[in-house]
Amino acid sequence: MGLADLHIHTIYSYDGTATVPAVLSQAKQIGLDVIAITDHDEIRGALKAFELAPQFEIEVIPGIEITTAEGDLLALFVTESIAPGMALIDTILRVGEAGGICIAPHPMARGAGMKSLSAPSIVRALDHPRASRILIGIETYNATTLDRESNLLAQKLWADCPRVARVGNSDAHTLQAMGAGVTEFPGNTAAHLLDALWIGATDIRQREQMSSAQILGSWALNFVISAPARIAMAYP
Ligand SMILES: [Zn+2]
Repeated sequence: MGLADLHIHTIYSYDGTATVPAVLSQAKQIGLDVIAITDHDEIRGALKAFELAPQFEIEVIPGIEITTAEGDLLALFVTESIAPGMALIDTILRVGEAGGICIAPHPMARGAGMKSLSAPSIVRALDHPRASRILIGIETYNATTLDRESNLLAQKLWADCPRVARVGNSDAHTLQAMGAGVTEFPGNTAAHLLDALWIGATDIRQREQMSSAQILGSWALNFVISAPARIAMAYP
């Protein structure tokens, strides 16, 4: 079985703290086979990671966490920016045109600054003849959401949506959080993972339970430490 963490942020996210090389090295160290870089409305970190990945013997899926009008949406296997602010179904169709697939991250999760898709928005997309062929997964375990109950709601939603794959991710904004939630799949490459997502053959694994205090404390510390790297990235 392969292990993937499909929701990781780098300093290219406004709230990310880890550099691309550090993320790649950590992924290798903690035994992940495949990772997806999904910065908020930003593709540059993902493209850089994709380019550097072979040096770190890790496979990277380029992605974005898109801020749609209805909440956050993960787009995987895309190499171009997708405009934020569009309706969910329009965004999903746009991702499809760009050759990607979508996963609904932390559905229904609430919290400061969080914009999550509602169950009705997700169900509407899954009922749409074309969008349902692109939105093929629900994140039923998000290791760092501060709204713990939302993982249970996501699991219930997934159970009501036959044919949709379940996905476990860290949503890491720090190196320490990477791999705290992972997706298990038959095989060990990104192509195997995509096959497994298509047929709903993925499973979730909770590797580490971090407390809200640990998540926030570690993020705040790393946000300060990463300031020079973030400034260098913004003003190269
Ligand atoms: Zn995220």
